[in-house]
Amino acid sequence: MAKKRKPNSAQVITLLIILFALFKVYVLPNMNIPENNTTLDVQQTEKVSQNDNNFQNSDKPKEPTTPIPSIPEENLLKIHYIDVGQADCILITLNDQTMLIDAGDEAHDDDVVNYLKAQNITEFDYVIGTHPHADHIGGLDSVINEFAIDTLLMPKAVNTSPSFESVLDAMEHKNLSATSPKIGDTYSFNAAEFTILNSVDSTPENLNNASIVIRLVYGEQSYLFTGDAEKAIEYQMMDSGLTLKSNVLKVAHHGSNTSSLEKFILAVDPDIAVISVGKDNSYGHPHEKIVNRLNRLNIKTYRTDENGTIIISSDGKFNYVTVEKEG
Ligand SMILES: [Zn+2]
Repeated sequence: MAKKRKPNSAQVITLLIILFALFKVYVLPNMNIPENNTTLDVQQTEKVSQNDNNFQNSDKPKEPTTPIPSIPEENLLKIHYIDVGQADCILITLNDQTMLIDAGDEAHDDDVVNYLKAQNITEFDYVIGTHPHADHIGGLDSVINEFAIDTLLMPKAVNTSPSFESVLDAMEHKNLSATSPKIGDTYSFNAAEFTILNSVDSTPENLNNASIVIRLVYGEQSYLFTGDAEKAIEYQMMDSGLTLKSNVLKVAHHGSNTSSLEKFILAVDPDIAVISVGKDNSYGHPHEKIVNRLNRLNIKTYRTDENGTIIISSDGKFNYVTVEKEG
């Protein structure tokens, strides 16, 4: 009968070392350790890791971590879809140029002004009031009062609401007049440019359809901002012959079923969609059908009610998405 040998302590230690080495080599690398930030990288993993390698190969000391560590601020287009509840407010910057599309509602005007000041904004090259509904121009009077504005773009549509009257008062006070752009007009924005895809020269029955729609192009990337334009305008834009294809779509009318025809979404063919919408809003926005449509078409969708403020940065080649909170 074989004699049972009790392992001595040296053998036990050797075995433990072997087990630990196996664990380190085979188990640890496969564990998903979540990173402690809210930066989401969409379709640009290669680019970022490549830059990280370059960074490590150089002898530069490591800078404090920023959401996008390897991209210089210079020539970086930044689009902030600011969380203003059930409303729209979008800040766009590129080098020294600044643009604001809508200014949120009256209830958030301090939030908007504070956010803009925190970004060191003192003046705007462009401010666009897409259409005279309170959830788009409610905070515009405060923006006009607080910041210098070079070009104010508004459709030739009027409203009798107190919020629209306040905007007109602020314009008068600042001696500022609005320009009503024409469909097809193009404006330069530093190294980018944008084209007007919709505007009106009289007040339509449905004010949503007065929405100024713009398509911004920077390098190889393009961005569509639709205001609250509804299906009739989507048909009109598809018939216009103007380019709709855009990498990023601001979903029209807070994701309402009044907009976002499947045909239109296919014509825009975005990789990324952003819905500006308030949590538990009384309109039931975004409509489930639209959310499902975007999902079915494999469009990565961000929502201000779930993600807070969403920032898309681009060097003209890639888009990098940063969210305030994971949805
Ligand atoms: Zn709206």
